[in-house]
Amino acid sequence: MKILTKDFKNKIKEILIKDKSILISGHHNPDGDSLGGSLGLAHLLKNAGYDVTVMMPSNMPEYLEWMPGADDILIYEKGLTDKVIEKADIIFFVDFNAVSRTENAAEALKNSEAIKIMLDHHPQPSDDAEFIFSDTKVSSASEIVYEFINMLGFSEYTDKNVATCLFTGIMTDTLNFSVNSSRPETFEIVSNFLSFGIDKDAIYEKVNNNFSLKRLKLIGYLLYKKMKAVSDYKFAYMLISEKELNEFDFRDGDHEGIVNMPLSVSDINVSVLAIEQDDFVKLSLRSKGDYDVNLLARKYFNGGGHKNAAGGRIYKPYEEVEDYILSSVKDYFSEN
Ligand code: 5GP
Ligand code: MN
Repeated sequence: MKILTKDFKNKIKEILIKDKSILISGHHNPDGDSLGGSLGLAHLLKNAGYDVTVMMPSNMPEYLEWMPGADDILIYEKGLTDKVIEKADIIFFVDFNAVSRTENAAEALKNSEAIKIMLDHHPQPSDDAEFIFSDTKVSSASEIVYEFINMLGFSEYTDKNVATCLFTGIMTDTLNFSVNSSRPETFEIVSNFLSFGIDKDAIYEKVNNNFSLKRLKLIGYLLYKKMKAVSDYKFAYMLISEKELNEFDFRDGDHEGIVNMPLSVSDINVSVLAIEQDDFVKLSLRSKGDYDVNLLARKYFNGGGHKNAAGGRIYKPYEEVEDYILSSVKDYFSEN
């Protein structure tokens, strides 16, 4: 475990005093890991007697609304949490490496005088937090949260809710244990969660088999009509316009999984999904093996993420995006 702050454990123990008000924040467009890690930590700290609030910068996807504690999450974009941020003594950042990943909430979080603790697994952590507990080798931020809990000696406060939330984070970030899950510790932790009576199969079902019929039709349409492959670069991409999004009744979180599909082809190593939004085009990037889409997203697409899963934005008209993606990818492959 990589602890990036000297004397981390003793200092955190000094800071975590019961009368402190604790805020836990996930990132913009929170995924299973950001929500699972934040809610798991919140349940645990509540069980240990702390005053804890969870906020997300923007709405959570529908397929995660069932998570225990999800109803109590404050959504920053709904204007609820400036006072909560001001009042916090300690703020946890879960599953992000820079405060800018909280978008609209970034300024309030930056201005807050609270002590900030980052629990994350992305490369290149920023110095936006005083305390950084982060390791790219760990499957998920949820697993980092569990290591953090253990390190503090708080594991006795684990219960079924804590286990359910953290399991969901690990399961989703490893794509159901297909990637980033070869450390034996990951399965030891999961084994421990199972002993709390979590319903693994029901969690899988709720997360993966909970989409609309229209989303499935959109996938069919995208794969058949829209996906293009550039064989020289073993690269595939799909673009979705706002008009197409409306036609297929596209919701937050519906893109999840679609960008991975081209990677099932033996000859495709990098996949990009581009989705038109009001002011920019949002990108999801995925890769196999040594192809580093974090670098690609950082250099060309105002984004970042992990080596094999990243996101970004192109601030150009939708019509210009295809050419920009192609020239960026060509550039990237000629340099790497
Ligand atoms: P997704 O494609 O599912 O939206 O995101 C995949 C990964 O990339 C996630 O791990 C997320 O943390 C990261 N990511 C997504 N969008 C952005 C972005 O705009 N900036 C950065 N730095 N990371 C992003
Ligand atoms: Mn995440």
